[in-house]
Amino acid sequence: MADAIWDREVETATPEATLARAGAAWEGQFRHLSEHSPFYARKLREAGVRSPVRFADLSRLPFTTKEELKAALDDEPPFGSNACVPADRIKRVYQTSGTSGVPSVIALTAADVETWTAIGARTYYATGIHEQHSVVTSFGAGPFVAGHTHFTLMRIGARVVPVAPGDTERILFALRSGLADTLLATASFAQYLANRLEGPAARELGLTHVVTGGEPGGGIPAIRDHIQDVFGATVTEVMGIGDASPSLFGECPQQQGMHFCGGRQIWAELVDLDSHEPMAIEGGAVGEMVYTHLEREAMPVVRFLGGDIVRVEGTSCGCGRTSFRMRCLGRRDDMFIVRGVNVYPTAILAVVGDFRPRVTGRARVVRPGPEVSVQPPVPIEVEVPAGREPDARLAAELEEAIHSRLTFRSRVELVEEAAFGESGYKTRLSVRR
Ligand SMILES: [Zn+2]
Repeated sequence: MADAIWDREVETATPEATLARAGAAWEGQFRHLSEHSPFYARKLREAGVRSPVRFADLSRLPFTTKEELKAALDDEPPFGSNACVPADRIKRVYQTSGTSGVPSVIALTAADVETWTAIGARTYYATGIHEQHSVVTSFGAGPFVAGHTHFTLMRIGARVVPVAPGDTERILFALRSGLADTLLATASFAQYLANRLEGPAARELGLTHVVTGGEPGGGIPAIRDHIQDVFGATVTEVMGIGDASPSLFGECPQQQGMHFCGGRQIWAELVDLDSHEPMAIEGGAVGEMVYTHLEREAMPVVRFLGGDIVRVEGTSCGCGRTSFRMRCLGRRDDMFIVRGVNVYPTAILAVVGDFRPRVTGRARVVRPGPEVSVQPPVPIEVEVPAGREPDARLAAELEEAIHSRLTFRSRVELVEEAAFGESGYKTRLSVRR
């Protein structure tokens, strides 16, 4: 039986129809940004673009990077020289976490709010959240773009029970009192709850569905299976990127990777990790995602190099959606190279997760400096439950499993829950010390 689909016309379109629709939207988007964004006017001029660029030639345009967008913002605060509309048309502003210290802003017009909501509705509906569901969500209302999820859940028509990020007690209250049957949380937090509640009572909570987002994890078998087993629930995952759309990929209940849900509003390309040359989006391909807006008013991006490294899982699905499916292997910043081989911390999580309950499932790579290459043995911290007897063999067994499955040598340090930090909400997969 085909699954329920939110926007059948867009989500089951043939590749030809999708391309034609995107091409038509691009004409308007290109005109808008080349006429109204000083940042893109200059960027296009410098790239030698003198006439409208056909959609078929999109891949000849230069990439846009996070650093460029930050510089554009600093040029003309508060909305930046990349903004395409007068300030009085901007009706909603999110901030980024500002890894470099100062937050960046993401501005939306009323139409952009609607666009994000439309993409979000396709995304979350794909995960299996429908109007009859009750969702306890630990995604904050702001300042981050994840707060847009609240509009999306309202649009779908689900019951929404908002709680603050990491508020375990209120989540438990919502579940125990029957307010919610679905949990929306980061993968780390869902994993933390599963560790904490493991036991027969967890299955009495009536939690049937967990949707993870904000970081990879829900698609890693060891993590997914654990959460599913503890709650007797189905786990699917979502992913987005603030500069494009906070919800952009949603995994359907077939659990074969996240569908691209950008539809007519966003175009996705896959490029080679090293050369940045365009790659075919087909099963097995590994590359970095590149995003181009097709219907964005305030802050459109063209060929935005988002830093998400993904593996394409396929281009068709039993659910009937025709968009590609993928798994996120990690952020470009988290990737490192050991003896010429790319390693993603998500691969380490997959190995570590198999050692539960001796470990909690969380782990991170400690990198000595900014270099991408790491000399083995690679330092890895693995979280272990608090208050247990020291497990003398555990570190050696982990090192052995990492060596046999990922083919590099590591030096595992076991860190107790409290000392690991980050309160189980969202875990950085690699840290520099
Ligand atoms: Zn599907």
